[in-house]
Amino acid sequence: MESRRIITPDEYIEETEDVEALGNFGIPARTHYNRHHILFYRREWAEHSEARALRGRKSLIPRLDESVHNALHDNFREQNLHVPILGAQTLNLVNRLYEVGGNQFHSIDNLLSSIDKAATFTPNSTSRELAELAIHTIQLQIPYIRDGLLHPADLHIPPCNS
Ligand SMILES: [Zn+2]
Repeated sequence: MESRRIITPDEYIEETEDVEALGNFGIPARTHYNRHHILFYRREWAEHSEARALRGRKSLIPRLDESVHNALHDNFREQNLHVPILGAQTLNLVNRLYEVGGNQFHSIDNLLSSIDKAATFTPNSTSRELAELAIHTIQLQIPYIRDGLLHPADLHIPPCNS
């Protein structure tokens, strides 16, 4: 069953799915999860094709327990934080440098180091500041992602290069 749920009226809409029969992993089954785009908000990241491509990589869309996902967005909203879209040149390089990791956290590490590396190649100080803020706001999400991953199998992403 699929439904669309509005998180905030003006910010973004994300798919919500019902999950059943996940009880075989030795932890309580969580009945609701959301696909969380680490690179949010869509409003900003969907405007540029390179940004959209990076945001849409499967390895950067972990499935999170719904309540943890809500807490992440509530706290970011309170602090007026989101992941800023990167400069065009930085984005282009990150898209070439980023590789899927062996698990969710390796993928995040790869993303962070790709952004860091790409930023060192740009002479534009605004782009470098955006890259630093992006790295910071991605790092801030890690505790939520650790907390909210649906079950241990989510740590392992199939090798599909996305
Ligand atoms: Zn989200």
